[in-house]
This record gives sequence, structure tokens and C-alpha cells, in this order.
Amino acid sequence: MSENAASDTIAFLGLGHMGGPMAVNLVKAGHQVVAYDPVTAALEAAREHGIATVDSASEAVVGASVVLTMLPSGKHVLDAYRGVDGAPGLLSVAAPDTLFLDCSTINVDEAREAAAIALDAGHRSVDAPVSGGVVGAEAGTLTFMVGALPEDFETVKPILELMGRRIVHCGDHGAGQAAKVCNNMILGVSMIAVSEAFVLGEKLGLTHQALFDVASNASGQCWALTTNCPVPGPVPTSPANRDYQPGFAGALMAKDLRLAVNALESTGVDGQMGHLASKIYDAFAAEGGAGRDFSGIITDIRDKAAK
Ligand code: NAD
Repeated sequence: MSENAASDTIAFLGLGHMGGPMAVNLVKAGHQVVAYDPVTAALEAAREHGIATVDSASEAVVGASVVLTMLPSGKHVLDAYRGVDGAPGLLSVAAPDTLFLDCSTINVDEAREAAAIALDAGHRSVDAPVSGGVVGAEAGTLTFMVGALPEDFETVKPILELMGRRIVHCGDHGAGQAAKVCNNMILGVSMIAVSEAFVLGEKLGLTHQALFDVASNASGQCWALTTNCPVPGPVPTSPANRDYQPGFAGALMAKDLRLAVNALESTGVDGQMGHLASKIYDAFAAEGGAGRDFSGIITDIRDKAAK
């Protein structure tokens, strides 16, 4: 990598809901970005924003000093690194000492594996999953949770600052994914608890506003209540006020809780609430909630209460 990170070429792989706008922010800041996505429409949209595109991941990686991946799952990341279906592995194509920066949300164990094989191949590795959703990706206000060696953190920080507002160094390889999975397990469990409390309040004759006014200033206070409130009214900007349009979609919460369950199992933690939240959000996503905000879980709880 050169001393001036802005002069380095970034290979950007995965131009979906998140990756598309993140790549745009890098280009706007003056970075050289060479991008690839197997979906033609994603490449066309990138070109409209002045991003150079190529026809394969390996073409993007040749000549890049940073390889940023924003892919659906850990399998996608590991397959891309190792090579699959005749495509060469990116680790073998990249110049020595390339920095592999994965911003996808994947299993902690997969992130550690990705780092191990990248290091074995003579490269550097950083995991930096995000929170903030598509709105944050477009506005450049994402939070990045970073697992990296200290010197690699210093290298990626100025790049991440072009796409995000908070960049938190959480520890060594895999620590970014660990922080993300722990935070989202809190979020899933707390949204269910807040939703159950509102439905219980309804049955007990409490108005939503009365419960909100008490809990938001008492020990029940949490983000699920005060920012993403699952009933319309008390927090006018919450998705409940627009028929649960996401926001943070049920499918993504279900995915993140499956990652949490995998982490609970691999570490032997008796996380009963995490397991239960995962089951509840899997059912929510399978039964029509995949594209709704995850706070829409309250409608399931209310429907069951009515029976
Ligand atoms: P997405 O499905 O919209 O985009 C993923 C993109 O990767 C697709 O365009 C796909 O064609 C492309 N892709 C697949 N294999 C590829 C390969 N080998 N090379 C290059 N591109 C490839 O997903 P998204 O919503 O952008 O999410 C990306 C990641 O970010 C996921 O891990 C997700 O969990 C995480 N995330 C998403 C959100 C959100 O609100 N959408 C929020 C936080 C984190």
C-alpha cells in the first residue's frame, strides 16, 4: 500500500443494497475503485455513478491494494477467496501483501478462517461488518465494527471513514463480527421483549403513550423502545408509523440471529434468549415478515394474543 491511501486502487466486490452506495461514496471521495458483481444491473448502476467495472472478480483484484467484499454470506466470502466453479481464488490472484477487507456480516468462525487463509497466502485481513442499513450506506454514516491487527486498522480507518461515521476497533481478527453478532442478539431479544410488553399493556388497559412515557424514562429504556418503537405514535419516525416498511428487514434480523446461535453453539454459551429469538424471527421471516421491519414482530404477538 502506498502512504497516501487515497491513491490506492480498491477492488470492490458486491454492489448490492449496501455495497452499491458504499462504492459510490469511495469514488466521490476520489478513490480509484474497480468493481465487480455477477448481476448486470448492479454493474450498470455502478457505471452510472462513475465507477469502473470489470467482468470478473479476479480482473478487479489484479492491481488493487485493497479488496473490499460486501457479500451475502460467509460462504460467498470464503468461496471468492479460495476460488469456486472454475473461478480462480482471489488470494492466489492478488499481489503479495494485499489487504482483504470484508464488510459482509458472516459467522465469527468464518471471519477467523478467512483471515487465516489470507495470512497464509501472504496477505493482510480485516473484518469490518457494519450497522446503519441502506440509509447509512447512502449517507456515509455507517458504524464499522473492526477486527484487525493494530497496523491494519490504521490502514483501513481512513477508507472506512469515507463510508461511515463511527469506526470502532474491537480487537483482533473476527472481533468485528463478534461485536456485531452480540449487539444484534441484544437487539432481537429486546425488540421481542418491548413488543410483548406493549401487547400486555394493551390487554391491561394501558395506552401506548402511557407505557412509553414510563418505560422510556425507567429501567425498560432501550433502542427498540425509544428509536424503533414497535407501535405507531410515541416515536413518529419509527417504522411502525409507516406500516412497518423497513428500516431493518425481518430477513436480516433472522440471518443475524442465526449467526448468533452459531456463535452460542460454537462457544458453548447457554444463550436461551438468543436461541428463542432466532426461532421467533425465523418464523416471522418465513410467514411474510422477511421484507417488513423487524419491529413488525408485534403484529404476530398481538395476533396470537387475540386467539
Ligand atoms: P445484497 O444481496 O443486496 O448484495 C450482495 C451482492 O453481492 C449482490 O449484488 C450479489 O450479486 C453480489 N455477489 C454475490 N457473489 C458475488 C461475488 N462472488 N463477487 C461479487 N459480487 C457478488 O446484500 P446487502 O443488503 O447489500 O448486504 C450485504 C452484506 O451486508 C450482507 O452480509 C448483509 O448481512 C450485510 N448487511 C446488510 C444490511 C442491510 O440493511 N441490507 C445492514 C447491515 C449489514
